[in-house]
Amino acid sequence: MRFILRLSTWLAAVAVVAALTPAIAGQQAAPPAPTTPAPQSQAAPATPAAPPPKVFLFATGGTISNKQGGRLTVDELIQSIPNLASRVRAEGEQFANVSSGAISLDQWLDLSRRINDRFKKDADLAGVVVTSGTDTLEEMAYFLHLTVRDERPVVIVGAMRNPSTLGYEGAANLEDAFRVAADPQSRGLGALVVLNDEINSAREVTKTDSLRLDTFSSGDYGVLGVADSDRIVYYRKPVRRHTAQSEFDVSAIKTLPRVDVILTYQGAPGDLIKAAVDAGARGIVIAGAGAGATSGTQGEGISYATGKNVFVVSTTRAGSGRVMGGGRGAASYRTTGGDLQPIKARILLMLALATSDKPEDVQRMLREY
Ligand code: ASP
Repeated sequence: MRFILRLSTWLAAVAVVAALTPAIAGQQAAPPAPTTPAPQSQAAPATPAAPPPKVFLFATGGTISNKQGGRLTVDELIQSIPNLASRVRAEGEQFANVSSGAISLDQWLDLSRRINDRFKKDADLAGVVVTSGTDTLEEMAYFLHLTVRDERPVVIVGAMRNPSTLGYEGAANLEDAFRVAADPQSRGLGALVVLNDEINSAREVTKTDSLRLDTFSSGDYGVLGVADSDRIVYYRKPVRRHTAQSEFDVSAIKTLPRVDVILTYQGAPGDLIKAAVDAGARGIVIAGAGAGATSGTQGEGISYATGKNVFVVSTTRAGSGRVMGGGRGAASYRTTGGDLQPIKARILLMLALATSDKPEDVQRMLREY
């Protein structure tokens, strides 16, 4: 009896696997074999199949669309993925078609407002995908991580090879980005960077190589998950404030204040910091040595900045690790960026300064995100 029960369970499992195999295999699956239709009287009442999830694509340019003789449009990008319509209802907009470095901070604000508006107006939307050039992709991704106030995923994607190159991986990356954006498991994880079958958090990911395909890495933190051909799998969640828990409201921010990043190197002159302050910077991020040390006359430059109520945030040029401290008193214009890369600390500081000019608020924001 037990054997019969086990056998029947096993047979049922085989039947389920057989039924699911075409769906798992996706576009590679052979079409189902024709079956004899059941007589009308025995047919189950027809329930209309749920439409595939809706995902909106904002295309901004970059190598993913930069083919010889002209850039791919948003429609061409969508069409580059075979069979996408059976899995995702893709809609799109050509937001820009330039390299990532050519996108302005005002365009970042505009893009974030448009994504927020789309989520607000369309309850049916599962997620958003944004294509970007890879050079500054992680910066735009972190900006969206801090400013799109919704649980639904924003997935940023690019490519290292252009569409005219043998081995172009852009369509595969874009397909993965659509799958990640459509997957309910991606909700609440903030902005996600998807390339090379890997899902990284916008807060942690960095471009680590100028040319290699596996350039995006979160260092010791590792990937959040993977986009494998059978399914999307997650292993961990970001714990810091972002997206739906963010206080940064782009509808109330007209422009982002100037914040500069200044590198520490042996004998570095403090007058570069003074020059940034005199040019109108409201914040300076120091990409310091080791655990945030400065060199040369940078200390004088920092005193000049804080004396004019310009915020100075210490980070490390080491590539990973924290800069400790930050507790110099509530009224202090100096704090630490913790473990944030200098360019990420700059984005957080721009948003913090656009939101409050109170040192204690800015210090708190630098701690919480
Ligand atoms: N120059 C390109 C950009 O960032 C590089 C790329 O997309 O990979 O727009």
